[in-house]
Amino acid sequence: MSTRHSEHQFAIRLMEHLVVPTFVLDPQGNVIIWNKACERLTKVKAEEVLGTKDHWKAFYEESRVCLADLVLNSKTEQLEELYLSHSPKQDIYDGVRAENWCVMPRASKRLYLAINCGPIFDDDGHIIGVVETLRDMTEQKQAEQALESLAHKDGLTGLANRRSFDMCLETNLLHARREQEHLALLLCDVDHFKLYNDTYGHQKGDDCLKEVAQAVGKQIFRATDMAARYGGEEFAMIIPTSDEEGAQRVAKRVQEAVYELNLEHNSSLTDDRVTMSVGAVSLIPGEDVSPSVLIEMADQALYQAKEAGRNRICMFQQA
Ligand code: GH3
Ligand code: MG
Ligand code: MG
Repeated sequence: MSTRHSEHQFAIRLMEHLVVPTFVLDPQGNVIIWNKACERLTKVKAEEVLGTKDHWKAFYEESRVCLADLVLNSKTEQLEELYLSHSPKQDIYDGVRAENWCVMPRASKRLYLAINCGPIFDDDGHIIGVVETLRDMTEQKQAEQALESLAHKDGLTGLANRRSFDMCLETNLLHARREQEHLALLLCDVDHFKLYNDTYGHQKGDDCLKEVAQAVGKQIFRATDMAARYGGEEFAMIIPTSDEEGAQRVAKRVQEAVYELNLEHNSSLTDDRVTMSVGAVSLIPGEDVSPSVLIEMADQALYQAKEAGRNRICMFQQA
């Protein structure tokens, strides 16, 4: 056996036993190395993919290119659409890094993979292969997402918190102004909740708020709508592209949903159960409508709903 041949064998052995999941494509895009760590990660055996272009099947359910194919064919402009995050596209000769959720059909679990990929050149500068290494980042990603979600959620009710409400309102207001579309805002306030706490205690009050929040959250039907805990016993809903009629419909649903919970409230001066008042506004915002102006309008309407006897909806009427 020549030295060169045994060096070659050694290199292949080395790759096969590297602890980092790794596979290599030849210049035609066929798998030539699929190491043991890659087998463990994907649950796909080397003999199933060697000599084929089937490597994508280990990661995705539907046919698509992998990072190695993009690098091999210099198609890094597709990084944007195919990966959640990636390194700058011009880095191709130094290698490309990308991250993605992969379905992993054979392993039967979704994994978040950090993928590194780079071309291998011979002494004359020709590409003789592309090597792709994989790192399972699922736990880190999940922890990151959990933290992210905590930062946007209200601790007691699980609804969006005030901070994400503020951001959402700002974004939607700019959008509605630019597109000259309606934007609706609802402020919902539990009636006589101080009396509820006084009668049933703060803990029961918290339980009640959780149930009310759930009922409010269930009235969100579109991905673009948002329900948030605005403050203590106040909830807010942002409903893009909704005119007065639409806003009124959602407001009615919220008010009725809370009523239907049928939560006893013996000391309420309005009913013998927990009720909710809703102030709503819908308009096509001009330059003069800021988030605080819109909130003020909904708040005025809420005040009127309280004044008019609670457990009802009032729409803000422009003077
Ligand atoms: P109104 O019908 O006019 O809205 O009367 P109200 O009693 O609901 O209004 P008020 O603003 O006077 O009282 C709100 C009460 O909500 C007082 C406060 O103790 C209670 N509250 C605010 N946040 C929480 C909370 O997180 N948990 C509990 N249990 N109570 C809360
Ligand atoms: Mg209040
Ligand atoms: Mg109240």
